[in-house]
Formats: sequence, structure tokens, C-alpha cells
Amino acid sequence: MPQKSKTARRKVKFFYSLKDIEENLCVKIPKDLYAVEKEYPVLVSEYYLNLINKNNIPDDPIWKQCIPDISELSDSTSDEDPQCEKKYISVPKLIHRYKDRALLLVTTRCTTQCRFCFRKRYWKQGTARQDISDNELKNAINYLKTHPEIKEVLLSGGDPLILSNSKLDYILNAVCSTGTIEVVRIASRVPVTNPARINDGFVKMLSKYDGVWVVTHFNHPNEVTHESMDACKKIISAGIPVLNQTVLLKGINDNPEVLEKLFRSLIKNKIKPHYLFHVDPVKGVKHFATGIEKGLEILRYFRKNLSSVATPHFSIDLPEGGGKVSLQASYSKDGISFESVDEKGIITYYPELK
Ligand code: SF4
Repeated sequence: MPQKSKTARRKVKFFYSLKDIEENLCVKIPKDLYAVEKEYPVLVSEYYLNLINKNNIPDDPIWKQCIPDISELSDSTSDEDPQCEKKYISVPKLIHRYKDRALLLVTTRCTTQCRFCFRKRYWKQGTARQDISDNELKNAINYLKTHPEIKEVLLSGGDPLILSNSKLDYILNAVCSTGTIEVVRIASRVPVTNPARINDGFVKMLSKYDGVWVVTHFNHPNEVTHESMDACKKIISAGIPVLNQTVLLKGINDNPEVLEKLFRSLIKNKIKPHYLFHVDPVKGVKHFATGIEKGLEILRYFRKNLSSVATPHFSIDLPEGGGKVSLQASYSKDGISFESVDEKGIITYYPELK
């Protein structure tokens, strides 16, 4: 009988409390952070926790992304859903905001809870946190069938890759069998936080479907490891394109050189940096916001230092559910000409050619 590999046999471990993390890392966690944990719970995979450089706590970029900060309790923002997702829920678990796209929330669970998450409101559901039910999926599929203008579905959550391969297969089969959906994007931070989850069975299952894209979520070069790149390579080798979205996070990656390093590593591994998002004004997240000007400053740097393949769209979500818009660092329209402002503030006009 063939031996199972060590990786296949090894059970993935998760830490569900600051106390566990304190014991595992042998570091002292400040007492006031335990109050934050009561409001916004902690969950970190063993793999992601081990990426923390203990000599760099509390400034370490991995630490800051998964360990609570006292600012989570003290920010003045009260809105838990500034994107107004509730307003666009057409049937339970399906958000239809843009004409040709819909978002299907397949679970509220994740393998690591990122402190900057804009759906932190789900964390409070405690044991009620759940996966999409058969009935909810059936109703969502019926909605898609009666709205043939929807060509693209984004599977999100929570993290869809917390679901088993068979459950994901079931969902993908249902979505693709509508006959009208051409593209399915699966948004997941699992390649970053638990890359061992990207197993052969998952990739084989995914490659049965045309039009499937995987959207990863790398925020910092320290997340680009052999393991995470191997996971992405498996997906790409099966012919599935991989995009990446990054959130611009104060004190973590709000530095052009850090992001340049990240995006260069990603394109080297055939992962296209797609979006760089400004943090939404979500309750408990505001301390990560850099301000839009910081993002534009980084874009100006990219224009001179980074190719278009490596440069993502810098995007914000407009208030009151206005949707995503990509910002340009250096162009504005005055009705007659476009002006370009370089990083030194020099304006060059480009006349309209008609
Ligand atoms: S994995 Fe995604 S949904 Fe889950 S906590 Fe992180 S950002 Fe939020």
C-alpha cells in the first residue's frame, strides 16, 4: 500500500485565541488586546502565524494583519457596511450591484481572520457563522437564470476555499449549469494563509470548468513564500488564470518600494496584480486607512518604476454603495484636454485630436 506523504498526513492547525497564540509564539501579548478579541475574535492558521518575525513584533507586517490592535475598539467610524451590500442583496447570499456581475457569498468562515476585513460584521455571528445552504444556492441559481444579463459571478465570503472540494464542485456546477454565466471568479486568501489547502484534488476539480479565475490576496512581500508560490503555480499549471488584489494598509505596505517588491514577485510567478484597494471606512478598520493621496503618490512612483503588467488599478468603493472606481494619479479631464502631472508636479497637456 502506498505511503501517504507527510504533507498529506499532517493536520492543519489553527489558533482561535490570543492565549493560544501567546503560548505558541512564546511572546507576551498586551492585556488590553484581550478586550479587542472579545469584540472581534481571533483566528490564525499555524502556517500564517509562523511567518511572523518574532524580533519585529509589534511592527511585523504579518503580526499586524492577524493580531488585534487596540485601535479596533476606538475608531470613530460606526458604519459596518459602507458598501451598502445589504441594499443590493437580491436573494439571500446573492449581491447584484452591477448589471453584468453578481457576488455569491458562499460562506462566512475563513482560515485566518484579517484585522482589516471589510466584512468584519460577520465575525459577530459566532457559532451562527455558516456556509450557503442548498436552498439558498437553489434560489440564487434561479435568480441567475432569470437574469441572463449577469455574465460573471464572484464567489466570495468569508473565504470560499474553506469549503471542501466536493462542496465547491457542487456550487460551481450549479453556477455553470445556468448556461448564461461565462466567468466565475473565486476570491480567496487561502493561498496566502494556508497554501497546503491547494491540493491536487482541488486543482483537478477546478480545471473541469471553463471561465474560472482565482483571485488571491497578497498584501506584503513576506507572504510570498515557496509554499504560497507553489500553491499558485499548481492553479496556473492547470490553465487557471490567477489575479491578485491587495489592500493598501497603513504601517504594513503603504510604501512604494514594499509594494514594488510584492508586485514584481507576483508577476515573476505569473500572478497579475489586479487591484490595489484603499481601505473602506468600516468600523474597527479605520486605523489601517492611509488616505487616498498616499495611494496616488504610490501610483506616481509606479508610473516611472513599474511596468503596466505589474501595476494594479488603485480603486476605491464610493460611499453609499456607489461601486468601485479606479483612480488615476495624473490625469484629469477639463473638457478640451487631458493633463498629465508627473511626480514633480509638472503638468503636460495632451490636446484632444479632433
Ligand atoms: S480571508 Fe477575506 S473574508 Fe476572511 S477575514 Fe480575511 S479579508 Fe476577510
